[in-house]
Amino acid sequence: MSAGRSERPQVAAARRVGVTDERVLAAMAAVPRERFVPPAARSEADLDRPLRIGSNQTTSQPSLIATMLQALRLTGTERVLEVGTGFGYQAALLAHLVAEVVTVERHALLADRARGNLVAVGLAHVTVLVGDGTLGAPEYAPFDAITVAAAAPAVPPALAEQLAPGGRLVAPIGPRGQQVVVVYEYRDGQLVVVERLTAVRFVPLVSDGPDRLGRDR
Ligand code: SAH
Repeated sequence: MSAGRSERPQVAAARRVGVTDERVLAAMAAVPRERFVPPAARSEADLDRPLRIGSNQTTSQPSLIATMLQALRLTGTERVLEVGTGFGYQAALLAHLVAEVVTVERHALLADRARGNLVAVGLAHVTVLVGDGTLGAPEYAPFDAITVAAAAPAVPPALAEQLAPGGRLVAPIGPRGQQVVVVYEYRDGQLVVVERLTAVRFVPLVSDGPDRLGRDR
């Protein structure tokens, strides 16, 4: 950013909620959020609020995304899976933070938008898949970290299985109205809770598979 220009509002919002990881703050400074919301919502992109992105979905509050990313303790070498691409904002942040980003979105229309948005800001190397993210992305596993952008009663077992030993997973967990962002670590073949971050309200993680975790409706 050029000298004299004020800090991007997403950076200030992240700092306000206690994010201190300089790499996360640098990623927030590098990604123009207005490029990851629908044109009609562009004037609101600098507000630290979730915004509607169509298909009955929202893009999360930037300060919350920053908090979740900080919890993953990324150093730059990792391969990371995101479940719930939306318009691609968090995927773009991840692309600035780690070596390889794979993201899964169940709405093909949103995945298309995300791809276009990522290409437009020069992040064409992010792999955007269309599918049921509760199944993870086995062909790209193992992942050093996984972030889930939609809420479920529990972590889908396939996601735990695709984590590398010592890998971290962050996800909003719990029923509607009682969701908490939980940070897990994969140790000795098990997910162990390492931290409960904050109460939140996310859109539901919708499984199309046999072990349904939630519903859109
Ligand atoms: N990561 C986005 C937030 C998107 S909101 C951002 O940075 O703003 C959560 C997204 O999860 C929605 O787009 C929704 O369609 C998607 N989703 C819900 N259930 C899913 C599933 N089982 N697999 C993949 N995506 C899912």
